[in-house]
Amino acid sequence: MAAPEGQEAIVAEPQRPITNILIIIAMQTEALPVVNKFHLTEDPHSPFPQGVPWVRYHGTYKDLNINLIWPGKDPTLGVDSVGTISSALVTYAAIQALQPDLIINAGTAGGFKAKGASVGDIFIVSDCAFHDRRIPIPVFDLYGVGLRKAFETPNLTKELDLKVARLSTGDSLDTTEQDESSILANDATVKDMEGAAVAYVAELLKVPAIFIKAVTDIVDGDKPTAEEFLQNLASVTAALDVAVEKVISFINGKCVSEL
Ligand code: SAH
Repeated sequence: MAAPEGQEAIVAEPQRPITNILIIIAMQTEALPVVNKFHLTEDPHSPFPQGVPWVRYHGTYKDLNINLIWPGKDPTLGVDSVGTISSALVTYAAIQALQPDLIINAGTAGGFKAKGASVGDIFIVSDCAFHDRRIPIPVFDLYGVGLRKAFETPNLTKELDLKVARLSTGDSLDTTEQDESSILANDATVKDMEGAAVAYVAELLKVPAIFIKAVTDIVDGDKPTAEEFLQNLASVTAALDVAVEKVISFINGKCVSEL
């Protein structure tokens, strides 16, 4: 039997060095340190439809052409456009416009101490799934969970000594009891609001995607999530930015099959 279509396309040119990477980051606070580190500049003629808040920053680093897309601020409310809808839309539009070789979704996440996570930990994700898409009908249940593998990066993981974890995605920052049991069923160590949506689009359009998540708050701890998140956001995004830099410098000059 032929290999599943996605796999075929993903390794279609395994020997060609990666030249074009797409970084997707949901929040401005998370994105700006990366923008500054790589001296990226905002594209005044963004390839996106007129009027959308999505921002493209771009630049080069060694042999890499770097595109960082931030979904921008909600046009009505002025807060970061976090969550699955915005991240799926920008992933789709950016793949169409920029034809990346690899996607990196980087961001903060809640971590479960019962699964070994602590504030400031950086994880590379092995699998993504959703925890708030409950459709209790056979097969639709699996569609709702939407379990997908991230692109496997054994050499990167080993070289950078990254912790590996499963990620669970939902559209809420807080965690209901029902969410918590779904996250447990997903065997996830970290939870965010974008990863599985980016994975869905990346798989549809057959682009390898990796996920780097930094823990800002402990979901099964005693501090209120929003408070803990805001308290740790600055220091954890600094750590995330260092991790993204290491990942990008590892990627430089390599083919996807060498990751
Ligand atoms: N009050 C914040 C809200 C950001 S939402 C603000 O605007 O400053 C949280 C963002 O961080 C999302 O992009 C999500 O992916 C990530 N995140 C961090 N901790 C999380 C958690 N415990 N659960 C879900 N997402 C979390």
